[in-house]
Amino acid sequence: SGPDPDLPLITQRLDQTHHKLLILSGKGGVGKSTFTAQLAFALSQTHEVGVVDIDVCGPSLPKIMGVEREDVHRSSNGWTPVFVSDSLSLMSIGFMLPDEDAAVIWRGPKKNGIIKQFLRDVDWPPLDFMLFDTPPGTSDEHLSVVQLLRDSGISGAVILTTPQEVALQDVRKEIDFCRKARVPIMGVVENMSGFVCPGCRHESAIFPPTTGGAQALCDELGIPLLGRIPLDPLVGRACDFGESFADSAPTSPAAVALAEIVKRI
Ligand code: ADP
Repeated sequence: SGPDPDLPLITQRLDQTHHKLLILSGKGGVGKSTFTAQLAFALSQTHEVGVVDIDVCGPSLPKIMGVEREDVHRSSNGWTPVFVSDSLSLMSIGFMLPDEDAAVIWRGPKKNGIIKQFLRDVDWPPLDFMLFDTPPGTSDEHLSVVQLLRDSGISGAVILTTPQEVALQDVRKEIDFCRKARVPIMGVVENMSGFVCPGCRHESAIFPPTTGGAQALCDELGIPLLGRIPLDPLVGRACDFGESFADSAPTSPAAVALAEIVKRI
């Protein structure tokens, strides 16, 4: 099939959007949505940021960004995204579903349709960064977004992993996808890199890497390791409250690591 006839409309809509970043992971549960939300909070201190939750079957961003019960509204200019703050907006299928399980059985064309609506029909403000939280692996959603952004361009992808060998193996698949889809790889973030004891603040390895972790993989593949974020109960707590851990615990190892990553993005 040829290019989507709506591409010019999407390009026009995203005319004022500078950097479009895909947040990817080979596996679920490695902290991709957590990272997307925390990166968005951090970038929005100094930039205009929009987040597009295209994890159509498991939208979790409304909750972890603290806007779970909001609604999207329609105006003559299209849908208005939900504003988390003045400089941070979010669009998620989660805002439109009657209940949490409603999208689980959606098939490719319907997912593609909703992702297209997020890009073509949403009245996004002018954005410095648009972050896409994608489902784990490479599936219909990834192909859709790559095709729909063909003309307006994807700036790069950030790949989330844990140090565990099974997760690292799947990073290779994400890298392969990016290379085939011609999406520049910005680098890898190793999450849950170690455990920070809430009592003594000592950091210990939780998934002891058998082959050198994400650093060794990045060295081998010639891509940057953007940073390592430890497993810290305050990260989980911030997500449960829909908060930024960089705000609630700015000196925590996780917040320090995130700040370093933000500088590299
Ligand atoms: P994914 O989007 O990759 O499926 P999530 O972002 O939903 O993963 O994270 C999975 C779980 O792990 C969530 O409960 C989240 O709060 C928790 N989590 C993620 N990163 C950390 C971390 N660095 N420290 C503590 N908990 C974390």
